[in-house]
Amino acid sequence: HTTSPLLRLSNLRVSYGQIEAVKGIDLELHSGELVSLIGANGAGKTTTLNAIAGILPIAEGELLYAGERINSVPPHLRVVRGLALVPEGRGIFTRLTVEENLRMGAYIRSDKAGIEADMQHVFEMLPRVKERLHQVAGTLSGGEQQMLAIGRALLSRPKLLLLDEPSMGLAPLFVEKIFEVVQSVVREGVTVLLVEQNANLALKFSQRAYVMDGGLITLSGTGEALLHDPKVRSAYLGEA
Ligand code: ATP
Repeated sequence: HTTSPLLRLSNLRVSYGQIEAVKGIDLELHSGELVSLIGANGAGKTTTLNAIAGILPIAEGELLYAGERINSVPPHLRVVRGLALVPEGRGIFTRLTVEENLRMGAYIRSDKAGIEADMQHVFEMLPRVKERLHQVAGTLSGGEQQMLAIGRALLSRPKLLLLDEPSMGLAPLFVEKIFEVVQSVVREGVTVLLVEQNANLALKFSQRAYVMDGGLITLSGTGEALLHDPKVRSAYLGEA
């Protein structure tokens, strides 16, 4: 890469009190990339995403975004700068309608015309969400809620979208659909960092990936290379 990365983590460490969950990792994302972070439960993937989003404090190391150190920038100002997180469990407001949830994504914006244009755009990408606009969000299926969560994040006009386990708990048909949505988001120029348990699909769709284990990055490479790596196959793709 000749351009500087959109996101760079250098020796990033994150702790919960005495427990160090992320033990010094390096990771880079370039504009336009879809990169995934895979690994077993408890590897530190969610902790990493939450630290990038600013929900968890960074104990040590450097978080660079668009060339600036943002270690201490509060979460809402990271959203203003184009960094959006779709959290594990989706973070839908279940008592609000689908439309109210979507509009929450734009709370940092004041450009009314731009927001309406982006609403229309989200409807085109996610027709299912449009069909259910006036429904209470808690009554949507898991897959529909995931789409709504992605739509809501898109309303903040992100440059970098952090997706935490979007396929978790979904029926296979919805898993496929979610991956299609992620791909169309990337095609539109949004850079995506994807945390996934479904390593097989994540690697198939990603340009590059990082494997995390015990708070460290143990492997990285192109999605294709990792998909065929014997260590990855035995540890994360369920092969003997
Ligand atoms: P999962 O897919 O299960 O979310 P993960 O790779 O995302 O796994 P993390 O959730 O980041 O892993 O957890 C990393 C480590 O930090 C684990 O050992 C976990 O037990 C610990 N941990 C996570 N959240 C907390 C917390 N709030 N307090 C203390 N320890 C935590």
